[in-house]
Amino acid sequence: QRRTKLSVDEYVDGILRGDITILSRAVTLVESLLPTHQDTAQQIIERCLPHAGKSMRIGITGVPGAGKSTSIDAFGMHLIRQGRKLAVLAIDPSSERSKGSILGDKTRMEQLAREKNAFIRPSPSAGSLGGVARKTRETIVLCEAAGFDTIFVETVGVGQSETAVHSMVDFFLLIQLAGTGDELQGIKRGIMEMADGIVVNKADGDNVDKANLAASHYRSALRLFPPAESGWKPRVLTYSGYYALGIKDIWDMVDEYRHMTTDNGYFRLKRQRQAKWWMYETINDELRDSFYNNPDVQALIPETEEAVLQDRATSFTAARRLLEAYFRNAFDS
Ligand code: GDP
Repeated sequence: QRRTKLSVDEYVDGILRGDITILSRAVTLVESLLPTHQDTAQQIIERCLPHAGKSMRIGITGVPGAGKSTSIDAFGMHLIRQGRKLAVLAIDPSSERSKGSILGDKTRMEQLAREKNAFIRPSPSAGSLGGVARKTRETIVLCEAAGFDTIFVETVGVGQSETAVHSMVDFFLLIQLAGTGDELQGIKRGIMEMADGIVVNKADGDNVDKANLAASHYRSALRLFPPAESGWKPRVLTYSGYYALGIKDIWDMVDEYRHMTTDNGYFRLKRQRQAKWWMYETINDELRDSFYNNPDVQALIPETEEAVLQDRATSFTAARRLLEAYFRNAFDS
């Protein structure tokens, strides 16, 4: 069945009405690589911006198996029962639609997937981390304009995507596991430093003592970090996503963070910084794309690279030669 083409007005009206089908279609445009789709998407985003920004954005990370999907299902149901509207997005540059995205797959969140107040969207597929992250950032705007007051951005806690997620959320939640006794070795210090809350999952049955022990390890580790600019002291809690135990405390913590940082001005300051960061990030991305897509540059790259490899040119003169070719062409056209 062919879908009729919508005008920008129809998209915007639909989104502002909270029409999920139209929201989904708009997100598809955001994710599309076609220039005409991107044009339309930018117009839609621009018009949605004044209606966006009012949500609480939460980044959720953890290694595979930590229980992210189980937990997001439980967290989400808790929030939905409070009358909130939740969008679950994901950043997973390694995912490809054809293989089935690992993150944000509806089947991984069985309860939420049936809720009309939950919008679940898998990670944009393909492309650089920067590109994928940018699309997710733009999707947040559309979801907020559609009335979603809570946004989850899920990522796998193994690579660089945490930094990208951190740059678009208000609160960063790290899901950890108890277990092997070397808890602290597996996590990169940088990821722990970003966390506003560390939550130890699977604190159920025989695992409760181990989870408590792990929690106290994390607490000691956090004490070694310098105080955060926000004035917030990151907390460590234990819970069970599977048995839905301890979930309320986690969300009380997030609410407390929001109140505290709203009162002391940090919430707004962080969003302003993120907006600025994304401006430069977008400029950098587009300049890089424009440079490498430039036909003159492309034509010169093989021989220039060869010259560097054979010591006929230094890296710097080689780079300069390519940049000159780029700027000559850019200013002529
Ligand atoms: P993800 O890879 O981080 O998304 O992890 P999943 O949510 O898929 O969970 C990985 C495994 O851990 C699954 O077999 C879950 O059933 C199990 N699991 C998740 N949460 C809990 C929990 O709170 N308690 C226990 N005992 N098992 C859990």
